[in-house]
Amino acid sequence: MRSPHLWFPYAQMETMAEPLAIKSAQGVKLTLEDNTILIDAISSWWCVIHGYNHPEITTAAKEQLDTLPHVMLGGLTHAPANDLADTLVSITPDGLNHVFFGDSGSVGVEIALKMAVQYHKNKGIQTKNHFIALKNSYHGDTCAVMSIADDDDSMHAKFQGFLPKQFFVSPPETSEAPINAALEELEYILTESADSIAAMIVEPLMQGAGGFRLHGADYLAAAQKLCHKHNVLMIYDEVATGFGRTGTLFAADQVSVTPDIMILGKGLSAGYLTLSATLATTEIYETFYGNPSNAFMHGPTYMGNPTACAIALKGIEVFKKDNYLDRIHAIESFLQRSLSTLVHDSIVDIRIKGAMACIEVIDPAALKGVQDFAQERGVWLRPFENYLYTCPAYIITDEELLKICSVMKGWFN
Ligand SMILES: *Cc1c(COP(=O)(O)O)cnc(C)c1O
Repeated sequence: MRSPHLWFPYAQMETMAEPLAIKSAQGVKLTLEDNTILIDAISSWWCVIHGYNHPEITTAAKEQLDTLPHVMLGGLTHAPANDLADTLVSITPDGLNHVFFGDSGSVGVEIALKMAVQYHKNKGIQTKNHFIALKNSYHGDTCAVMSIADDDDSMHAKFQGFLPKQFFVSPPETSEAPINAALEELEYILTESADSIAAMIVEPLMQGAGGFRLHGADYLAAAQKLCHKHNVLMIYDEVATGFGRTGTLFAADQVSVTPDIMILGKGLSAGYLTLSATLATTEIYETFYGNPSNAFMHGPTYMGNPTACAIALKGIEVFKKDNYLDRIHAIESFLQRSLSTLVHDSIVDIRIKGAMACIEVIDPAALKGVQDFAQERGVWLRPFENYLYTCPAYIITDEELLKICSVMKGWFN
């Protein structure tokens, strides 16, 4: 069914399983070429937060396509980009007042890193060219962002020698774990090396592709305080956590301080078109303002694409109008009730937060065959390494959620 010319992501092309051919998708359901219907438990790497083909968002996209599908943002502007910048500033934590659009989560993070380095250079400090990241982090697949993914990460291990070296610290093990040891580790690195560090970057509260690991808001607030003491910025990569996944509109809403830079992607454009936004505080922005040689030298071709921006605007409107946060809390309770009591020899941890549940097993072999098992029961699950997870679209019904949970539990019982 697959073209021999098509190269697939994260896959050994010789041995990969035949991919499922999808004909159409509606709500949380994927329809295969043979008309089989599967409930999508992971919303296409957690970006399709409104479900597939959401009527209002599809209409907004079509209207924008009929008037202005694209125009460059160099020397030109348009209502969708202006309105989305205003809207993002109004819904994100106070202080993030400036928006730089990019064209994918990875690029959004690259932009944040460049911004942090240049912030210091614009202030006359030339030596701050490195970053602190969390162990088990994932920030995308382009080069600078690969360097801030965990060293031990097998995904990017081949590129050692090519990538710049960065600093890594362990976050507290769980959201409730004592934070002292984690902060001491951070303070040690800051004390030793802050002169060469531009910023610390975190996936706040929930690390996604690194295994849906949780840490607490207190850690983030304390880490930022330490960073600022050493003239190091704090960057939140909210590409996965943004738009409700952890139970608030942004994970940052659960933390008492505003980060210096924040990146949005994935759910921002609802899985329709690729878009990212890198937001910065006024303090950051002002160092780029005035002197011509301090301008920010970045500008993707599709930056602020009007269709993507129109989709994002409609998505944000629907998110509020349809009270998604209430629904996300209901999903969290449902996941707690159905999955948190699951016990099995192979399970080491079950993590649930907002509209996310992850079952971690000791050995990846314990998940071998689960994808076929789920598929035979009408559910699309795609575990990786030791993690079996669900991140459904927020429009999912209780009945559909029950089916996902039954399949996840059924695998172990
Ligand atoms: C997916 C993801 C990215 C990368 O986004 P792309 O759009 O795939 O480039 C970056 N950071 C986090 C936290 C992500 O989950």
